[in-house]
Amino acid sequence: MLNINNPSLLSFLVSSEDDGIAVTNPAIGEVLGYVPIQTEQAIEQCIEQASIGQKRWAAMAAKERSGLLRCWFELIMENKEDLARLMTLEQGKPLAEAQGEVVYGASFVEWFAEEAKRTNGETIPAIAGNKRLMTIKQPVGVACAITPWNFPIAMITRKAAPALAAGCSFIVKPAELTPLCAFAVAELAYQAGIPRDVLQVVLGQDAPTVGSIFTSHPLIRKLSFTGSTQVGRILMEKSAHDIKRTSMELGGNAPFIVFDDANIEAAVQGALASKFRNAGQTCVCANRFYVHSSIYDQFVTKFDAAVQQLNVGNGLEDGVQVGPVISLQAKQNIQALTERAIEQGANPVSSWQPLDGLFVAPVVLKDVTHQMDIVSQEIFGPVAPVIAFDSDEELIEMANDTIYGLASYFYSQNIHRVWKIAEALEYGMVGINEGIISTEVAPFGGVKQSGIGREGGKQGIDEYLDIKYLCFGGS
Ligand code: ADP
Repeated sequence: MLNINNPSLLSFLVSSEDDGIAVTNPAIGEVLGYVPIQTEQAIEQCIEQASIGQKRWAAMAAKERSGLLRCWFELIMENKEDLARLMTLEQGKPLAEAQGEVVYGASFVEWFAEEAKRTNGETIPAIAGNKRLMTIKQPVGVACAITPWNFPIAMITRKAAPALAAGCSFIVKPAELTPLCAFAVAELAYQAGIPRDVLQVVLGQDAPTVGSIFTSHPLIRKLSFTGSTQVGRILMEKSAHDIKRTSMELGGNAPFIVFDDANIEAAVQGALASKFRNAGQTCVCANRFYVHSSIYDQFVTKFDAAVQQLNVGNGLEDGVQVGPVISLQAKQNIQALTERAIEQGANPVSSWQPLDGLFVAPVVLKDVTHQMDIVSQEIFGPVAPVIAFDSDEELIEMANDTIYGLASYFYSQNIHRVWKIAEALEYGMVGINEGIISTEVAPFGGVKQSGIGREGGKQGIDEYLDIKYLCFGGS
């Protein structure tokens, strides 16, 4: 099943479970191949090599690093079809979405290839005439990352590209469920000329072991994590001992709000895109819908009609829009939350049928109240609970009533309300009349327990740079 045009992308594979871990296709349960794992000592050696490589890498001209990153970007784009196929095979998302992720993932490499040349310092007017003050920016050193399975390429490139652009070396532990894309995209970096000690992919016996090495090794200066708030908290606690820099991109509980002055057709399209992308498995997916009571029935009917048209199946098949969820545990969590909501009084707008394997039928739930468990917990699946609201004040209170603060969305055509709501939402990102907000040119990240730091935009590279202040005396 792992037949792709460029077999060099798979040169990392090992022959059996004795040498590595199995990677499985969630659509059909078939083992795709085995990827290598490393002992604790081997991972420590990788860190030592990364430290040596980093010094050479940082000493290169920014323009030269930029050129190598540009070359990596071009190779990712040239191998787009193969990478997308690998992604659908190991992660399950429909092929068209996987192609979209390869392009999106590559866009960070292109963007930070450009930003590599712009890590400017500044001069500061001194308070005494005989002094001269300035700042320079320098790479933090060896940076490491732990990434999730829902975006097997983009979650790596949006950390690796700014790290490399800044002059750091970079080691990533990808999710055990989706390592094929991680190794394949690193292989393309090597083919582009990026040294093997500057970019490394490692897997250990288990994730907590690698997490402990990353957070305790003295040569690691920075950890960037994308995943659950629960694991992010553990990694921050462990990083605290050595005061390591961290960036955390954690869970979300995005509200999607439709006001009575919204364009309802546009809101339905935005809701579909925001909720059902990647079968609902993204941290910025709409988790709960608040719709003004005067348009509630109209919105729910139209939204459900569109949801009933969604084609669920194996992501490699033509026309499939919703693939499998990632694991049996994920499926059970989604089902349990949905069944609990129904017990608590929610009603599926159309009948909700169980599906075989790891597939979950998309469903819109009406008669949902803000107090139900499904509203406060991350669903991470194709289930859309819709709550009615009456006043803007009540709405804001409900929308902000969460420990999370990653993405939020609202639809309104009233400019006064747009400003008021955009400012009142306690979130790192707000989509206004828009359901898809992520791009390499804007800062992505959360507030509250959704995280610390920003990825992408001109801010993304700062996560991998230290500011040094230079004070020149008068003599
Ligand atoms: P998800 O629910 O999306 O799988 P997790 O936070 O569990 O989110 O996983 C995200 C990443 O964190 C994965 O690469 C996973 O292997 C890793 N991970 C999980 N638990 C730990 C841990 N205790 N220490 C370090 N990494 C972990």
